[in-house]
Amino acid sequence: MKRLALFGSTGSIGTSCLDVVAAHSERLTPRVLTAHRRVNELNAQCLRFQPPLAVVADPEADLSGWTATSTEVWKGPSALIRAATLPDVDVVVAGLVGAAGLPPTLAAVRAGKRVAIANKETLVVAGPLVMAEAQASGAKLLPIDSEHNAVFQALAAGRREDVKQIILTASGGPFRGRTRSQLEHVSIDEALAHPTWRMGPKITIDSATMMNKALEVIEARWLFDLRADQISVVVHPQSIIHSLVEFTDGSVVAQLSPPDMRLPIQHALSWPERWSGISPVMNWREAAQLTLEPPDFEAFPALELGFEVARRGGTCGAVLNAANEVAVDRFLNGSLAFLEIADACRSILQAHDFDPNPTLETLLGQDRWAREEMRRWKA
Ligand code: MG
Repeated sequence: MKRLALFGSTGSIGTSCLDVVAAHSERLTPRVLTAHRRVNELNAQCLRFQPPLAVVADPEADLSGWTATSTEVWKGPSALIRAATLPDVDVVVAGLVGAAGLPPTLAAVRAGKRVAIANKETLVVAGPLVMAEAQASGAKLLPIDSEHNAVFQALAAGRREDVKQIILTASGGPFRGRTRSQLEHVSIDEALAHPTWRMGPKITIDSATMMNKALEVIEARWLFDLRADQISVVVHPQSIIHSLVEFTDGSVVAQLSPPDMRLPIQHALSWPERWSGISPVMNWREAAQLTLEPPDFEAFPALELGFEVARRGGTCGAVLNAANEVAVDRFLNGSLAFLEIADACRSILQAHDFDPNPTLETLLGQDRWAREEMRRWKA
């Protein structure tokens, strides 16, 4: 029986993870569920799954309506960190959104846990620190992000020294095929209408700008210890091929499955085993078309920022991620145009005080600085 701490249990990754837990209740048991401030949903999950502990990250959250009396509730960001390091937790599922996921994920890594990581910001912001801590503690990082999970699976086909490059696939989002000038006046609703994946609003906007792929390039650079020039992106609108690994002999190994996050989540929880799953499977009796096309760097300039940050490292990831988080908020509240998201991120990235070997404190300081800059950008 694996005992899970599920961080962000009311979000998109969290609810998919609980589907997997419910389907494998003889193998997986939730020890901790956490939410930011959706107390009612968390309460309902606790009534159903009966974890001994729940954590509400927002210290202002109102717990007066809590009815799941067999679950103890802790409150506040430091409670998240304590929950991530409990001795009776075997696997931490990092399903939080944004840089807020960094402190508890880092705590779990330091405690040597198996960490199923969906929170790409942890690696984007602090990749070298997180990987060094994992090396020191023996923590195993298993990617849930579908592309990285696919790369992790495909890497098993050969030796690490024989990897030539990895190719991350991108759906292209709702604006695939549009030119830069056609993106000038897109609405919030258009940007939120993702063609193949159902996800939260932050990552859906990131998919529309392709900033999500930029962040994934950075995530892959640290997670798999690759150079930026060993990472490529190809647009694959069907979201069936989740990513590919090319070896030195020219062989390319891919992972395919219908788009459903429950598969990479389950893989990260079951690894090195494989369990029969609840996700839909390929129907090989049906005709299918899998198409691949190069990304349009002019219409989606965020993508180039990802490669630049993967090349430079240091404080760049923290700055790009923080600037983008605020830019997405500003786009969603109507105070920033779609194309301005990448433009503003680029100018803040260029203006920042670059440090090639930052400490965690430096990274968090740069994160705060970049957020403030983005709040002020043409405001
Ligand atoms: Mg992804």
